[in-house]
Amino acid sequence: MSENSLIEIKQLTKQFPIGKKWFKPTGFVRAVDGLDFSINKGETFGLVGESGCGKSTTGRLINGLIKANQGEIIFDGQDLTELSEKQWKSYRKRMQMIFQDPFASLSPRMKVKDIVMEPLDVHYPQMPKAEKQEKAKRLLEICGLSPYHLNKYPHEFSGGQRQRISIARALILNPELIIADEAVSALDVSIQSQVLNLLVDLQEEFQLTYLFISHDLSVVEHISDRIGVMYLGNLVEVATKEQLFKNPKHPYTQSLLSSVPQLGESKKERITIKGEIPSASNPPKGCKFHTRCPFAMDICKEKVPQNTSIEDGHKVACHLY
Ligand code: SF4
Repeated sequence: MSENSLIEIKQLTKQFPIGKKWFKPTGFVRAVDGLDFSINKGETFGLVGESGCGKSTTGRLINGLIKANQGEIIFDGQDLTELSEKQWKSYRKRMQMIFQDPFASLSPRMKVKDIVMEPLDVHYPQMPKAEKQEKAKRLLEICGLSPYHLNKYPHEFSGGQRQRISIARALILNPELIIADEAVSALDVSIQSQVLNLLVDLQEEFQLTYLFISHDLSVVEHISDRIGVMYLGNLVEVATKEQLFKNPKHPYTQSLLSSVPQLGESKKERITIKGEIPSASNPPKGCKFHTRCPFAMDICKEKVPQNTSIEDGHKVACHLY
């Protein structure tokens, strides 16, 4: 593990059983299929891909909400996959999640101050209530809400305000890693940029590291330092934001980028992919993208492409390279 890394993922694998016959599953969905990547302290790593590619499962595995079948999650030198539920508690407060739907993730029966303070009740039950309230008030202010909002309920807020409450709640334990899973996808575009700018400001103020999961490349471009592109449980390309947007190498990345409308792109060649993402319970042999790839060759149907380094910090898994 390099000195700069906060978290390192090695060969991470998660299968979900499907169907049942004689009390046994009839198959497995390989949601995450041998992931390798690391996130440096203080950086934002964007994880992007179509719905069902395994990016949210990756976030949940890292946060311990679900258990991996194989692989390692090394956080600050400790493999989290080896921890018992009790041992997890001290690590869980060091990494927090922000979910897509702030309305579903906030209890409708709790006042905002209680929602934001709740993690302190769990992890620091001895802390005086006045101190907890003061922390909640300060964080809500930092996140753009006022003390006037403390005694209100989630339904009294707009979607953007509710996400600000979720962010305040995620920050109250002073975490090092924030996993934001489609954190702005449910918001209007104008509100999206406000919340993204807030996350950028908070990163500097609280020295946070982000794993930012999204299906939306323009959102990932706004916030990320490095980006990993996922397809059917695998990372097909990892690069800095500049490398990925200026010089995408994997045909899947190229097709995702072609689908993002850009000003003055009329002369740019568009790469379109056909068909739906194949089922993760029965993925294609060889390169999993070969059924949709406009450049597929014979070798692609047989052999799994390995990661190749294109330039410093830029890796791609494709037989074209
Ligand atoms: Fe396309 Fe082959 Fe590259 Fe897969 S390995 S992306 S099928 S060219």
